[in-house]
Amino acid sequence: MIENTDYTEALQPKVKGRFAPSPTGRMHLGNVFSALLSWLSAKSQGGTWLLRIEDIDPQRSHREYAELIMDDLHWLGFDWDEGPYWQSERGAIYERYLQQLRERGLTYPCYCTRADIMATQAPHESDGRVVYKGTCRNLPPGLHAGLAAIRMRVPDEGEGLVTFSDGHYGTHTVDLTTQCGDFIVRRKDGAWAYQLAVVVDDALMGINEVVRGRDLLLSSPQQIYLARQLGFAPPRFVHLPLLCNSAGQRLSKRDRSMDMESLRAHYSRQEIIGKLAHAAGLQPDDSPVEAKDLVGDFAWNRVPTADLQV
Ligand code: GLU
Repeated sequence: MIENTDYTEALQPKVKGRFAPSPTGRMHLGNVFSALLSWLSAKSQGGTWLLRIEDIDPQRSHREYAELIMDDLHWLGFDWDEGPYWQSERGAIYERYLQQLRERGLTYPCYCTRADIMATQAPHESDGRVVYKGTCRNLPPGLHAGLAAIRMRVPDEGEGLVTFSDGHYGTHTVDLTTQCGDFIVRRKDGAWAYQLAVVVDDALMGINEVVRGRDLLLSSPQQIYLARQLGFAPPRFVHLPLLCNSAGQRLSKRDRSMDMESLRAHYSRQEIIGKLAHAAGLQPDDSPVEAKDLVGDFAWNRVPTADLQV
């Protein structure tokens, strides 16, 4: 067999990663960890890294937080090659793609309130996720008036299996029909839902590697399904272990001592990166280091899959 590695390499698309924070608060150590690992992964493969501000929730997003996030990223040494893009400015684009789904009968209006949805929940069903039972799925048109959310139909029973290979956690198979249910692509108040915006943006921005916390692992099958319905090739997903405190509890946004305001007051950026790099298996101790000095030796197989204590 003749192998022509130059030719193979030329066929590999250049890696394009991204960091996609929601400006709903100051960055905390968990966000810094996602930024660090997605940046290292892209840079270590000779790729580029894009910044997208996910400010689609008008009630919770604030411009000042976005400015602080960008200032924190600069301070940490994570410079982006493209962006920032602002999701709040991309409504017309999301509308176009929603229209495509609507025309193919893949969406429907949903008038349910949160209370209606909770009332139809069977007990024990959750890992915290609410599986919508399809109450509004087959309503005759024109029967209801008033504000409606828009839901995406998942396939019928037996046809909703999505298998994907996470770059860090291996193969997962999720049944969209029973484990996810029809999901919201536009909220009742008109705000775009994360799932639609993220899929459209990752595709249109040419993102081929998504690195983020494993709390979003189970969003991947929905995103893969939605991407396929829109004719996009889904990106490669690589999920990260979560950061925990010494009691083993996941770091919470509410813990102000872990947000960048407090971290910047007490530590240098080299100390913060050193601590995270050590937790991530990228250096033997937590001695101070610059992010750029970790690029050369970065490898995913050094990063543990178990959640990390910091
Ligand atoms: N905007 C999301 C967040 O800040 C991240 C979305 C993603 O990485 O897919 O939690």
